[in-house]
Amino acid sequence: MRLLIVGGSDAGISAALRAREVAPDTEVTVVVADSFPNYSICGLPFYLSGEVLDWRNLAHRTVEEIERKGIKLLLDHTAHAIDPAHKFVTVTNRAGHNRILAYDRLVIATGAMPSKPPFEGNNLPGVHLLHSMADAFRMQQHLTHKPPHSAVIVGAGYIGLEIADALVQRGVPHVTLVVRSESVLRTTLSPSMAQVVEDELRRHGITVAKGIAVESVRARGSRLAISGTQGYEATTDLVLLAVGLRPSTELAQTAGVITGTQGAICVNREMATNVPDIYAAGDCAETWHRLLNKPTYLPLGTTAHKQGRIAGENAVGGRRQFAGSLGTQVVKVFDLAVARTGLREEDARGAGFDPLSHELRVWDHKAYYPGARELCVRVTGDRNTGRLLGAQIIGHWRSEVAKRIDSFATALFHDVHVEEMNDIDLSYAPPFSSPWDPVQMSAQAWVIAYQNSSKKENTL
Ligand SMILES: Cc1cc2nc3c(=O)[nH]c(=O)nc-3n(C[C@H](O)[C@H](O)[C@H](O)COP(=O)(O)OP(=O)(O)OC[C@H]3O[C@@H](n4cnc5c(N)ncnc54)[C@H](O)[C@@H]3O)c2cc1C
Repeated sequence: MRLLIVGGSDAGISAALRAREVAPDTEVTVVVADSFPNYSICGLPFYLSGEVLDWRNLAHRTVEEIERKGIKLLLDHTAHAIDPAHKFVTVTNRAGHNRILAYDRLVIATGAMPSKPPFEGNNLPGVHLLHSMADAFRMQQHLTHKPPHSAVIVGAGYIGLEIADALVQRGVPHVTLVVRSESVLRTTLSPSMAQVVEDELRRHGITVAKGIAVESVRARGSRLAISGTQGYEATTDLVLLAVGLRPSTELAQTAGVITGTQGAICVNREMATNVPDIYAAGDCAETWHRLLNKPTYLPLGTTAHKQGRIAGENAVGGRRQFAGSLGTQVVKVFDLAVARTGLREEDARGAGFDPLSHELRVWDHKAYYPGARELCVRVTGDRNTGRLLGAQIIGHWRSEVAKRIDSFATALFHDVHVEEMNDIDLSYAPPFSSPWDPVQMSAQAWVIAYQNSSKKENTL
């Protein structure tokens, strides 16, 4: 069996490793457009901030470690076309030489590309994107050889915020986030929670310009002049565009693979496409949402690993199903960890639930033990059934925010009701938590809010 995988990042390498685990006789070849297989692009902001000193340390595995698993890597080769009738893929190397690679099963793991807003000047020197190692090297070069006095980041999703943090750590005196919406992390957090993040950004000297769509970037001497709606004007030394992603599906389309949600490749729960013997996984593919029960587009490293593993197993004869994503995420923004899982109230309402949310401020561990810090926990449940729908948590990044959002994520995975959160046997000692963990205290507060809202309805 010849398994060919196009793409050598989270999804592609996960597929390759799993295929070799379950079917060790499989001939696995991974075609990678660049020279950086299995690099953690999630680590790029920490390389730029200076926290990770050597970019080589960003590799999840070295080339030798991958090859030792019996996986053949074809680096610096770009796949251009798939012939599904004759089962081969045409690839071209850096020197422009073509090769034809035959396959029995194919996994497409071509990832995504950062969206470039179509305004004038989006390609000027000094205007950056951050998605690949090459992007990071370009930006590192800029920061090292022409240290900017100011930087403008267009977009305030989690990548924009991580870069804002990195630039401040790197000593850039003036950093501005320009965001089209009225809040940061618009698709991740509810507005009241986003406000906590915005306060943290301002506390660290970041200017947040909201409700502004950038319209152009022009060279002005050695600097860049930015114009936007509402008369926005700024002159800066570095611009980073972080406004989202579009799935890379050009290759898949040459085989007649169908695309759907936000242009991502349509796959079934076994990660199979509509074309026989072709699978897809990771940021190029749709994501089954466990609560919405439908395909969505949620490009995350966690999901890419899981989908890749399933595609790899199924490509060599398995029948595993992707269990679905809950959109669980955590991001460090200066001193805060910001996390969410499941649906926000606004998403839940759109999906036909009757959501009720309750926000609680609570100590992360017993207040008498030194170092206690406040967590802000927002729980969303269904008013009709009491079912847990989602949670958001913000707190100091050493306050075990990630562990706590993962408790909610695990509960959501098992369809737990908010009240049942109180039955879970969670750990406790005063330096870490309370006899009722903040997860449970916030569940209890939600239950009281739920009962009060039901009483109010009954009286009306
Ligand atoms: C700055 C940053 C921070 C992030 N932080 C987090 C985080 O903290 N947590 C999290 O869960 N996610 C995070 N992500 C998202 C995560 O990195 C992606 O979801 C994940 O890398 C997707 O993996 P992938 O394998 O699907 O695609 P990609 O990582 O995009 O890789 C695509 C691969 O395909 C190859 N390729 C593409 N086209 C071709 C072709 N035609 N021929 C040959 N090879 C091809 C590329 O060379 C590459 O190897 C972050 C992303 C960025 C950019």
